[in-house]
Amino acid sequence: MALIVHKYGGTSMGSTERIGQVAKRVAKWARAGHQLVVVPSAMSGETNRLLGLAKALSPEIVTAELQRELDAVASTGEQVSASLLAIALQAEGLQAVAYSGWQVPIRTDSAFTKARIEEIDQTRVMADLAAGKVVVITGFQGVDAHGNVTTLGRGGSDTSAVAIAAAMKADECLIYTDVDGVYTTDPRIVEQARRLHTISFEEMLEMASLGSKVLQIRSVEFAGKYRVPLRVLSSFTPWDIDLATEAASGTLITFEEDEKMERAVVSGIAFNRDEAKISLLGVPDKPGIAFQILGPVADANIDVDVIIQNVSHDGKTDFSFTVHRNEYTRTLALLEATVLPKTGGAKLTGDARICKVSIVGIGMRSHVGVASRMFSTLSDEGINIQMITTSEIKTSVVIDEKYMELAVRALHRAFELEQAPLV
Ligand code: ADP
Ligand code: ASP
Ligand code: MG
Repeated sequence: MALIVHKYGGTSMGSTERIGQVAKRVAKWARAGHQLVVVPSAMSGETNRLLGLAKALSPEIVTAELQRELDAVASTGEQVSASLLAIALQAEGLQAVAYSGWQVPIRTDSAFTKARIEEIDQTRVMADLAAGKVVVITGFQGVDAHGNVTTLGRGGSDTSAVAIAAAMKADECLIYTDVDGVYTTDPRIVEQARRLHTISFEEMLEMASLGSKVLQIRSVEFAGKYRVPLRVLSSFTPWDIDLATEAASGTLITFEEDEKMERAVVSGIAFNRDEAKISLLGVPDKPGIAFQILGPVADANIDVDVIIQNVSHDGKTDFSFTVHRNEYTRTLALLEATVLPKTGGAKLTGDARICKVSIVGIGMRSHVGVASRMFSTLSDEGINIQMITTSEIKTSVVIDEKYMELAVRALHRAFELEQAPLV
């Protein structure tokens, strides 16, 4: 008997019919003798609908007071789907109980809309499992020290599931979604994308942080920190397929560095359309300038991603960085008010229609010329690179948004990702 956490995403929970299928699948695992904790997302589209209701009443939700209410609204989607699943499980003849985050409780900090899980009390859940129940716990939400409902950021149910698996020392955490694993790139963009049987934890972390929404980045961080065995697989296979086949399907996130596994130089391509670029042209090139520009941005709690500063000419330089697209107008307004008056004649410009495309692979550590192959591929397609950033296992470029799909497809071909690597 093993303790297994299942997570089902929005599409997997998208209708009462789908929820019925999920219940049948969970029942199959429970009848095989396993203890099951199930973490569902809201039904697909529901979180967007709920957020839309709030935004119709107040388009700019930036204060903590408004965000507190927004979280209370957004969290209801999971409350509905969790209890619907518990009803479906009982209809299958199982004993089942659903809990909201605050009932467990799943304790978080008070950073509304992007709270971090701090602690999970397992007492209640363990007692239910021991009594033979399937326990359903809402994804995406928790409760802070003052009893306020919080949410964990978009896609946060992945993190709920992995954190619960870590806290309960589950034998495995299975993330059921609408694709059958982690692919070399988003299979909805590149038809030839190939499913990876395994992906290293480090690569998965990079892919998630660079925009592959198949797993929320914090879920991967949790998996790494607590060594949670994590697998991404499809909820759209027939629920009654053989359990052993199902358990071995999808993509396993591996932690073994030297394990003999698929090892290409580049393992995957990620892309992100959520960023915007801001430039200050002709700022004085003197010590402290980066701090002068980015200090107020950090103070306003705005995350900065790619940063470049040009070589100076006549004591002046150009400085560019990217922020989340949601923060674009706020950042421009902030710089206009705080930084421009102090930078003697600098010009402020921006572009929200950019995207970041990244190649990821731990094989890049031991191979040279990977980045230059990326640049030559983009150049062959006539795509101009606006910014470049690299780390040991990734190279990212910022390009015009309209070339995103072209760039991803060309790079997928150039690095021969449609073919399985030799091991
Ligand atoms: P869920 O609702 O189950 O959480 P998500 O929509 O959050 O599902 O994540 C699954 C989606 O992630 C897929 O439908 C796919 O379009 C997208 N995706 C992006 N990059 C990848 C990738 N490298 N491999 C697989 N899926 C990816
Ligand atoms: N329902 C939330 C969202 O849409 C959380 C999740 O699905 O993981 O972002
Ligand atoms: Mg998701």
